[in-house]
Order: sequence, then C-alpha cells, then structure tokens
Amino acid sequence: MVKNKDKFSRSGLAIKLSAIKGFSEPKVSVEQYITDSEVAATILWDAYMKGDIDRKVIADLGCGTGILGIGAMLLGADKVYFVESDSSAIETAKENARYIESESSAEFFLGDVKDFDKRVDTVIMNPPFGTKNEHSDREFLEKAFQIGDVVYSFHKSETKDFIERFSKDKNFKITQVIDFKFPLKATMKFHRKRIERINVSCFRFIKED
Ligand code: SAH
Repeated sequence: MVKNKDKFSRSGLAIKLSAIKGFSEPKVSVEQYITDSEVAATILWDAYMKGDIDRKVIADLGCGTGILGIGAMLLGADKVYFVESDSSAIETAKENARYIESESSAEFFLGDVKDFDKRVDTVIMNPPFGTKNEHSDREFLEKAFQIGDVVYSFHKSETKDFIERFSKDKNFKITQVIDFKFPLKATMKFHRKRIERINVSCFRFIKED
C-alpha cells in the first residue's frame, strides 16, 4: 500500500492542512488562534525530513483544533497525543482527525498540559504566547522538556533570549530557529486590521546528554 506520506510534498501537505476546521468561537483568554496551514506545513515537513515524525510518538500540547498533530499523523507518526484544556476545541480536533486518511493512532486528553505525563519522542506545539496569561509559554515549555527529547515550539521572536536561557537551564539546546511573520486572522473583535502580523519563531530543541 502506498502510504499517505509518499503521496505528499510540502505543498501537498499544506493543501491538506488548509481544510482543517478552526475554532468556532475562539477564546481570547486562552489565546486561541489556529496555526496558518502554510506555516504548519513548513515546520512539519522540516521535522519530517529531520526524522522527527515518521514512526515516532508525538505530543501536540495545546492542540486547539489539531492542525499540528494531524499533520504529524499524515506524515507517518506512530501515535499522536492531542492535549487541550478546551472541550469544544478538542471536539473539533477529533472531528478533523476523523476525516484524514492515516494509520497513526490518535489519543485525546482533555485537561491542562500540566497534568499530561506520557513520554514521547517529539513534541510539536504552538502554545499560547503568554500575552494573556503571563507564564503559560513557560508552563508549556517546561512540560515539553519533561516528556520529550526533541521539541518544536512557536514563540514570539522577541522572547528569544528568555527561551535560550530557559532551555539551557533545563538541559536542552536550540538547534534551529525559523522566523515567520505570523498571520493572525482577525477572528477576535478587538482586532482592527483584517490581518495582523507578528514576529514569531519556531524553535527546535534537543535534549543534551
Ligand atoms: N496548537 C493549535 C492551537 C494554538 S492556540 C494550533 O496550532 O492551531 C493555543 C491553544 O492552547 C488553545 O487551543 C488553548 O485552548 C490551549 N491552552 C491554553 N492553555 C492551556 C493549558 N494550560 N492546557 C492545555 N491547553 C491550553
């Protein structure tokens, strides 16, 4: 059988991911934004090429409606854990996962990332940036470093120095930083411009021996 991933290119993946359903009623307090499908495909494809996805166990922390974890399923992950504290978002993630063709197993955890404790090979996450809840980015990173050996995580580019110190402290080293102008679609009432762009970087961390 031709496996899903063999049918794909990076742009084919982006097209598949553009069909993922977003938040029906995004909640400002927990910074609910779906990752843009082009951005998601860029990071997932890069992770796949580095051997961090195929046949691996993956966690998508703060999965929202599931775009990152679903991308990992499409690229041949063995298993993906979807972790999310918002019940309506995780229901949409389940629905999104149901519509894709993949042999990966998917497990959904409704709850706080703090309470998730499965070991995984790779964490791929776009967590809240800590704009509304000051330390949420830190909590997510801390959890990711506890459970995984390789971590991909999006953060505001301006927090790079903090991210560097924090990861070093936890014995992780940054091996790559990819910068994006992150399109935040105006799904929330307080956004004036239709598309806001902010500087966001995706960091890849690996555990040091
Ligand atoms: N990763 C998704 C969603 C990003 S928005 C994507 O890339 O599209 C951040 C998500 O983290 C939201 O869905 C929000 O509900 C969730 N979240 C925020 N704090 C959380 C916590 N403490 N535990 C679990 N999920 C949390």
